[in-house]
Amino acid sequence: MEIAGIVRNSFVDYPGVLACAVFAPHCNYNCWYCHNSHLLHKDGSIREEDFFKFLAERKDFLDGVVVSGGEPTLQKDLVEFIKKIKNMGFLVKLDTNGSNFDVLNALISQNLVDYVAMDIKAPFEKYDMIIGYKKDLTEEKKSINLLLQNKVDYEFRTTFSPDLQTDDIEQICKQIKGAKRYSIQKYRRVEYNPKNMQEKSREEMNLAGEVAKKYVEEVKVLGT
Ligand code: SF4
Repeated sequence: MEIAGIVRNSFVDYPGVLACAVFAPHCNYNCWYCHNSHLLHKDGSIREEDFFKFLAERKDFLDGVVVSGGEPTLQKDLVEFIKKIKNMGFLVKLDTNGSNFDVLNALISQNLVDYVAMDIKAPFEKYDMIIGYKKDLTEEKKSINLLLQNKVDYEFRTTFSPDLQTDDIEQICKQIKGAKRYSIQKYRRVEYNPKNMQEKSREEMNLAGEVAKKYVEEVKVLGT
């Protein structure tokens, strides 16, 4: 598994769990607001054996590992990598854009992940506006349906980008209707901002949260 970065301790990346986070390089999306873009175009520079050595040393202090990216499901040996983490007794959270159904399904069916956070970038018909190209979303739709089956704890999450409106959040929520948990994250200004777009106000964030509650059991509005 390629590893491009590690956060040694995090209280915020895995709900209720003290975890470290490991970041895989590369992504098949090209979200214009990506905050990890520095990771996407470089190869993994951290050796897997060094990561596992670090984990072994932190075994009594950390409870979980967040596997993030980039898009970790692009890594050919992700299942084996996570198996090793699980065998050491850690909880595992996977951050994914849901574009690789088979890998997600394998991880869930083998009980290798304890929590999945799947990004929903936009209403399906507007994905290209965020991810930078027209994409067949069959895999993403299958991943949504899989998570909705509640075989693993999960959340869907959307960055409330300035080019989305409250109606778009409502449309997304219709697409994940009945979901257990949905997080709306505040977009933070990035250097590359071609249209000089502004962050959503606290009122806009909260309104989106109220709209989402019509469709989803638990809604979190983050970053206001
Ligand atoms: S899916 Fe995530 S990692 Fe990939 S480009 Fe978008 S924001 Fe960045």
